[in-house]
Amino acid sequence: MKIKSVKAVIVKLPEAASKTRPTRLSWNKSAKRAMPVNIYPEYSNLPGEMPGGGLKTVWVQVTAEDGTWGLGKCAFGDPTAAFVNTVIAPIIEGQNCLAIEYLNDLTLRVSHRFGSSGTASTAMAGVDLALWDLKGKILNQPVYSLLGGPVRDSITCYATSDDLDWSQELGFTKFKITNPSHYSDGDTGIRTVVEHVAKARSLVGDGRDLMINPVMSFNVEFALRLLEQLRPYNLRWFEEPLVPTNTEGLAHLRRAAPWVAIATGEDHHGRHAFLDLVEKRAVDIIQPDLSWGGGLTEAMKAHAIAEMCGIATIPHGGANDPFGQHFAMAATESPMAEYWLGTDPGVPLEETVRIPGTAVPVEGQVKPSPEPGFGMQFESGDIADWGSN
Ligand SMILES: [Mg+2]
Repeated sequence: MKIKSVKAVIVKLPEAASKTRPTRLSWNKSAKRAMPVNIYPEYSNLPGEMPGGGLKTVWVQVTAEDGTWGLGKCAFGDPTAAFVNTVIAPIIEGQNCLAIEYLNDLTLRVSHRFGSSGTASTAMAGVDLALWDLKGKILNQPVYSLLGGPVRDSITCYATSDDLDWSQELGFTKFKITNPSHYSDGDTGIRTVVEHVAKARSLVGDGRDLMINPVMSFNVEFALRLLEQLRPYNLRWFEEPLVPTNTEGLAHLRRAAPWVAIATGEDHHGRHAFLDLVEKRAVDIIQPDLSWGGGLTEAMKAHAIAEMCGIATIPHGGANDPFGQHFAMAATESPMAEYWLGTDPGVPLEETVRIPGTAVPVEGQVKPSPEPGFGMQFESGDIADWGSN
């Protein structure tokens, strides 16, 4: 069956059905989170104030000649939508819609000229996820079955949230917290992080996984000084401390602080970026983002590279949408998935779902819908052309 059309679209998501009143506002609305740009004090580290942070979600709709369609979600607004519509669509329209490996290779070979990461890999991700959704619908199978799964009965989730009381009330037993400091904050910044981690460890207790997420805000020297002081708190991993281009720095950090695992990957795009991390022994865990880094096909390739070297793959935000849930049901060396818990405490997770058909964790475990494709329950009327609003 041939591809009739490929286009960037807007998907109208239903309003979250919040029947329940929150007990308080989420950490997500107020917690300081440092980013690389915070070396310049005029930029805020408060949520929603980061430059480039307000771009719209891009969806991609791929329609087959019999009218069946699949949807994939990517990100970052107009540049991505333009890449989908003007670069990828003309290449793959008219091709066999089931030949995902071929279409991935074709698109990657063309996208090298555009850097094959950033906007190019984000656009590729939306298209690739839509192709998997379409293939599942045509073959009447959930995507995890097409990938050779399931390899587990359900997925163990960790909660990314500073609301540790609420995370525990929901039944999570693994936790990741924010980082408020930038390396330019020096000793004061180190003290702030140590107090933040110490408090979190006392709230969750010993014997529970606890991680911290600096999101590229450290340099090697700051990270090493901090890790010395965090050693008593037994972090399960230290996430994305450095900018993605500093692979040698990460490898140095990993060798210099062998008591903590190093994780990174949400800002690494495509299989070659992960091959570099793995070859240089810079990481213990890779964290591709399925909607930014080329899609499910690229994530499965990164997983294969990492698996052979004894490195786990735990995608960024994996448990929050059906894409990452299907990955985790089919990837052998993916021992847990991230549930980014940014909704208000007290509101049940079922009331926070934005993509209809998405399963939510119960007692820290999630199991995706076995419906065809990614199991998303959208109607044609929910979908509009990009730029039409
Ligand atoms: Mg992260």
